[in-house]
Amino acid sequence: QRLKQVLINLLNNAVKYNKENGRIEVTTEQIAEVLRISVKDTGLGISPENINRIFNPFERIGAEKTETEGTGLGLAVSKKLMDAMGGTIGIDSVVNEGTTFWIEFPTTLSQHENAGSIQASHSTDQEFCETAGLILYIEDNASNIELVEQLLNSRLPGVRLMTQMNGRPAIKLAAEFKPDLILLDLNLPDIHGSEVLKMLMESPVTKSIPVVVISADAMSHQQEKLLKYGARDYLTKPLDVPEFLRVVEFWVKKNNK
Ligand code: ADP
Repeated sequence: QRLKQVLINLLNNAVKYNKENGRIEVTTEQIAEVLRISVKDTGLGISPENINRIFNPFERIGAEKTETEGTGLGLAVSKKLMDAMGGTIGIDSVVNEGTTFWIEFPTTLSQHENAGSIQASHSTDQEFCETAGLILYIEDNASNIELVEQLLNSRLPGVRLMTQMNGRPAIKLAAEFKPDLILLDLNLPDIHGSEVLKMLMESPVTKSIPVVVISADAMSHQQEKLLKYGARDYLTKPLDVPEFLRVVEFWVKKNNK
């Protein structure tokens, strides 16, 4: 989301400060451990004395006198976001030829690859196989579902996964199949996850099934609210894989006893 915001700012500027019939080129390249995305335009360019100022808030280096609209905040915000994400933003510009803005990120292993490397810190495979049960995962994002599927397949093969993207049908599934654990996302297409949790807790059929919330919302008041409604745990996205496996294992095993 934040990366998209930065790219939209750079692309916007590449259009706004271009020449008539100008061009924009977006390229990506990986140099050693660094991924670079560049947005190059054929606009008016920025003079060396102005380059130092463009990341300052409200600085429009003369554009305020032209018809090109703007607030002078796009680049300041982009720089803040890049810093916060552990990346960098930079610029190469030649007056009357054009400007290239680039952003760089250090590369990392994917979550799946990371999951493989935690094997050593975990208990033996034998122990994992003893963890068996059924999990209902209520989640509308396909890549999150895929990640959880892969983690369970590789690390807890005895656990079966059932998924449902909407809250209301998921409540029915929970009542019908009585899974050992419910993993619950909060932003669902039909009703909010907190409503799902309330309904599960109100029904005598489902109220004893442990529910663990998995949400990108890391605000503490949201966590407190959900825990008060009856959630047993609250995990934030992006998932901390070892923690996720520990929590799943704990609730599924507890249930087996
Ligand atoms: P805004 O576009 O709202 O004015 P930005 O923070 O995005 O604010 O950019 C700050 C200033 O930097 C702009 O006002 C403009 O003068 C200059 N600028 C930004 N991008 C470019 C570009 N691609 N080419 C030339 N000048 C640019």
